[in-house]
Amino acid sequence: RQLVIAIDGHSSCGKSTTAKAVAAELGYAYIDTGAMYRAVTLYLLEHSIAFDDLPHIEEALHQMQISFKRNRKTGRNELCLDGKVREDEIRQMRISNSVSEVSVIPAVRHALVRQQQQMGRKRGIVMDGRDIGTTVFPDAEVKIFMTADTHTRATRRQEELAVKNEVVELADIIDNLEKRDHIDSTRAESPLRRASDAVLLDTSHMTIDEQVDFVLERVSA
Ligand code: C5P
Repeated sequence: RQLVIAIDGHSSCGKSTTAKAVAAELGYAYIDTGAMYRAVTLYLLEHSIAFDDLPHIEEALHQMQISFKRNRKTGRNELCLDGKVREDEIRQMRISNSVSEVSVIPAVRHALVRQQQQMGRKRGIVMDGRDIGTTVFPDAEVKIFMTADTHTRATRRQEELAVKNEVVELADIIDNLEKRDHIDSTRAESPLRRASDAVLLDTSHMTIDEQVDFVLERVSA
């Protein structure tokens, strides 16, 4: 039986690393919905569209093409904007600093949620984000809500950025994570919250393997 696995939670607590590994283990598709909000942010910045310019945002949502392409070398799904791989750009701090402002915009959420629901029609999918278990797939068979203490999350994020040669102070990362979590959990439209039937997973003291096993156990339960 092909399931839908929803993994939500706070920024940088290991959602995508865990989700990717679970998908690989089960032979499921993996969709990183945060990458889609990041792509919209990149598009608006590149086209100099202000975050309160609703008519142009709506037009932009019709124009832009967001997709995922499998990289044959790494086996990973990479985000494409208008047909071009933009994985590196969407992870940069300038995008992290603006993405939560973009993801409060109802028109943006409606467009992306609709596209995510289309992507999940085939089932056999692991999707990570903030509102997957509450809004995108409220009927998902497995729902996980991940969190970790701020210092652990910031250190992991700093290491990820360092690999890409972006050196950022820990304090700036903590500031970014806290701001995003605040905006994400207080917005009017599908705020970040644990679905009542989601299992809480605190990854502060867990290895990736332990996190993956935790989710896989829920799948076979
Ligand atoms: O997962 P990631 O940290 O890349 O997500 C970036 C941002 O995108 C989040 O801070 C949040 O503002 C937004 N997001 C969202 N809903 C999702 C996924 C991400 O609002 N399902």
